This record gives sequence, C-alpha cells and structure tokens, in this order.
Amino acid sequence: MPPHQRVWNFNPGPAALPLEVLERINADWFNHRGSGMNVMEMSHRGKDYEAIHNQAVARVRQLLGVGEEYHVLFIQGGASLQFAMVPLNFLSEGRTADYLLQGDWSKKAIKEAKAIGKVNLAWEDPEGTYNHLPRRGDIKLTSGAAYFHYTSNETIRGTEFFEPPLQEGPPIVCDMSSDIFSHRLDGRQYALIYAGAQKNLGPSGVTLVVVADSFLKQARDGLPTMLSYRTYAGENSLYNTPPTFGIYVMSLVLDWIAMNGGLEGMEKRNRAKAELLYGAMDNSGDFYRGTVWKEYRSWMNVCFRMPSEGLEEEFLKEAKPKGFIGLKGHRSVGGIRVSLYNAVPVEAVGELVAFMKEFQSRKG
Ligand SMILES: *Cc1c(COP(=O)(O)O)cnc(C)c1O
Repeated sequence: MPPHQRVWNFNPGPAALPLEVLERINADWFNHRGSGMNVMEMSHRGKDYEAIHNQAVARVRQLLGVGEEYHVLFIQGGASLQFAMVPLNFLSEGRTADYLLQGDWSKKAIKEAKAIGKVNLAWEDPEGTYNHLPRRGDIKLTSGAAYFHYTSNETIRGTEFFEPPLQEGPPIVCDMSSDIFSHRLDGRQYALIYAGAQKNLGPSGVTLVVVADSFLKQARDGLPTMLSYRTYAGENSLYNTPPTFGIYVMSLVLDWIAMNGGLEGMEKRNRAKAELLYGAMDNSGDFYRGTVWKEYRSWMNVCFRMPSEGLEEEFLKEAKPKGFIGLKGHRSVGGIRVSLYNAVPVEAVGELVAFMKEFQSRKG
C-alpha cells in the first residue's frame, strides 16, 4: 500500500491528487502561512487570497508558454457549462462552428452547441465505435467557421490527440479536461482551452479557461453577466465569489507540476506509465486486449477488455482488497479503464502490472 494507508487510485475523475499537495494542505489547514485562517475562511478580496489566485494565474501562463495576451479564468459549472458557454459567446447568428464527433464528451459538447447555433460535424466515426481519431485529411472544415472544437482526450474511450489536429484554419477551441498539462503543450496554438479541474488540476468545482484576447474580442455582447467570458476576463475571475479553495488546491498542483520538471517532466512520467501498462497488455497474448487503435491510444485513460465479462468481474473483485481502486470501465462501455493522470505515481502502475501478470497466470 502507498503511504498514509491510501489506495492505488486509478479513479477517472475526481481523481488522485499528488501526495505532496495533500500534505501541504494538511500542514496549512488551521493557519495558512501565518494568516490564522484556512483558505476557505479568507475573504476573496483580501491580500492573502489574492496572492494565491494570482500565483495560479501566473503558473498557468508559464506552463502554457503564453503571456498577457491570454486571459486565465476560473469558472464554476464544470466543463459541461463550457460546452454551452463557448457557443453562447462565439457562435453568433449566421455562422457555423466545426466540431469533431470523437466520443461521448464531444457528443455532449455538440448537443449544447446545436441548441445555440449552427454546427458542422467536421468528422465523425461512421461506425460510432470511438476507438480511433481522424487523420488530418479526413477533417472537413466549413469556410469561415466561427471556431473548430475538439476534445484532446476522450476520457471514456481512451483516445488522445497529442497535437491539435489542425495546423491552420479557424480558431481552435479544445476541451482538455482529462489531459491538460500531461505532456508538452504550446498554448499559442489555441484560441480557447477549457478543463474541469478534477482530473489533472485539483478538486471539482472549478474549471480552468484560457482564452486569447484576440479571440475574446470576437465574443458577442448582451449575454447574462455570468455567462460572458468578458466578465471573468475584466474582473480577474473576481466579479463574484470564486471557488477559492479549489483555486488554492489548483495553485498547489500547478506548483507541484513546475517543481517536477514542468510539462516535460509530466510527459516523461506519463510516457513511462503508459508504456509500462500498454507494454504489459501487448505482451499478454490478447488476455488484456486494448480497445483503441494503437496510434490513438491515450496516456491518461487506458481501456482494455478481458476474455469474458466474468473474468473482468473477478479481476475487479480481486483488485479492490489489494488497494487498486477505480478500474471499472465507464458504465456505457464496460471493460476495464485505468486512469493515469499526472498525480498517479509510476510505482502504482508497476504494482498494477504485477497484479495483472499474476492474475493471468492463474486464470489465463
Ligand atoms: C470529465 C469530463 C468532462 C465533464 O466535466 P464536468 O466538470 O463534470 O462537467 C468534459 N469533458 C471531458 C473530456 C471530461 O473528461
């Protein structure tokens, strides 16, 4: 077992946080750095909180390699509210937005956009298996599209784009909820990025949005205050009370990323974990059978099937008392899903792979 009698946590979201971050929160619990308060008890207009807030903003810019030409926003309502806020702000009358239909999350994003304006499916998997992604030439753009939306990592099926699928064309909007800051990333390639915090950034309740000022200038006016990105950008996300504790934890997670080699460090760590697990699957003689085409395999959510549903059930049942948590595939697809977000240590994957080998030697 890991330290503090914790489990090997492979939860898909909310998910594992870095142990060092939890220890830091614990140390600051009653008296955050001499303030005499927990962060939850502070005024969001006070100096102590302001420092935390601005530190998180600065870290996001630093990790993305962008400057003040990008606004860093903290919004509530999850990535699911972003599915609607993006078209509300940018899909105006008479224009079209291009979307990739790559999986369950992009499907939900498309549903919201369609309620607001005109959507073009720039690519969809004709069989609806969601086990692969389009190649560049397969994407059919609308000329003059308001933006192009895709999901960098489809959390449920386990496919991932490591680069935007377009080099040029409309402004690129990306749902990075489940792989943000997990590998090297050039923020300048994007007009808008959003990510619910609870997979790679912190607790649920806060959503990170990064938007280029040049793109924000195209946003429409006349929206309700809390649905307009301009409100958040104009007030440093302090128009109303932001989710202060979530932003505090996010700032600690971002510090942890920076202290562990930044995005390059995360990439190294995540590559090692993915290679370990996919390697074990590929060497299992089809006992652990990956569900996604190899070239599109996600480093964050590794999905596989076993020879029968009965064996999958036995596998999960045995895994739990050994401290392996969160391995059940999404209820819509079944099978096994291993989520390997930044905070999951390489050691956890080593332990899991050893268990997988041992299980196969008994049941295979
Ligand atoms: C989890 C997830 C969401 C939903 O996030 P909420 O914060 O629960 O709204 C959206 N997109 C992706 C890619 C996700 O992984």
